[in-house]
Amino acid sequence: MVTEAVTYPTTPTEAAAVKKAGALPYAGGTDLMIHQAENIRNGQCPPMVFLGGVKAFHGITKGNNELRIGPLTTMAELAASAQIPPILSLACNAMGSPALRNIATLGGNICTASPAGDSLPALYTLDAEVKLVSPASVRRMPVHRFITGPGKTALEPDELLAAITIPVPAQELFHYRKVSPRVANAITKVSLAVSLAVDDEIVRDIGIAFGAVGPTVIRCSPIEDVCIGLPLHRLYRDRARLAAMARDSVKPIDDLRSTALYREAVAANLFAEFLETLNHPKP
Ligand SMILES: Cc1cc2nc3c(=O)[nH]c(=O)nc-3n(C[C@H](O)[C@H](O)[C@H](O)COP(=O)(O)OP(=O)(O)OC[C@H]3O[C@@H](n4cnc5c(N)ncnc54)[C@H](O)[C@@H]3O)c2cc1C
Repeated sequence: MVTEAVTYPTTPTEAAAVKKAGALPYAGGTDLMIHQAENIRNGQCPPMVFLGGVKAFHGITKGNNELRIGPLTTMAELAASAQIPPILSLACNAMGSPALRNIATLGGNICTASPAGDSLPALYTLDAEVKLVSPASVRRMPVHRFITGPGKTALEPDELLAAITIPVPAQELFHYRKVSPRVANAITKVSLAVSLAVDDEIVRDIGIAFGAVGPTVIRCSPIEDVCIGLPLHRLYRDRARLAAMARDSVKPIDDLRSTALYREAVAANLFAEFLETLNHPKP
């Protein structure tokens, strides 16, 4: 039988209860419908719970200590938002095509847990957390702990992603690059996100994350540790060594989109390209 019902809850706990009863959460549907296509063709699609009616899942709000983004916020809304760190806007704007960005959501991108998910490297560098709700509980965890493998998350069967939070103030300098065969509607071969906080040209904090070069997004903590406390011109001067470290950090595979060798080389080049932007006049 084709989809029994698309349920339309209006609160997070109602929605989580419907999921607990066996329904598939449905946000923009741009990933879900592709994965369910075979089931739909065979008339065996399970019931779905459409999350669009849950008001608390929409919108962006800024508190004193953190920015809160509802999981139903679309990529187009995020790409146009002046409230969020620019690196997340850039990443969301690099996704799919305008039509897709108008319907695809941040929550769907995170729950799909693809290593090529374009919002993820930015979220990793921003130390984003996810808030999960079930009918009986609420818990939070860093996004890098939430995503446990390709297509795998820490979501329990009765849980929904209810919010994404980013500490404020976030870093103030950002760099984002996505490499793909076309500008639109192309899955990432390699991406790099860097978020930096700098005091008087000295790196106070830095987040570096690569997409599509491992089973999950790879955050490069060893390189971050080397960079913290150094002046920007030293990062520029040491760019060959740091780019080699980037190459060693990634764990790509050969697949239909690219080869491991190409991805390793591109990851190192993308990082070197970022370091080139730090070419300051100081000796
Ligand atoms: C043509 C095309 C191009 C694409 N290009 C890109 C691209 O360039 N970059 C990229 O990263 N992705 C791309 N995608 C993939 C997809 O569009 C994104 O991953 C998108 O963000 C998914 O969001 P959605 O709202 O459509 O999720 P949905 O399809 O509705 O859901 C995705 C998954 O998350 C679950 N889910 C959704 N919301 C929640 C929630 N709140 N709690 C718990 N589970 C939830 C669903 O059950 C499902 O398993 C593309 C897809 C298509 C069809």
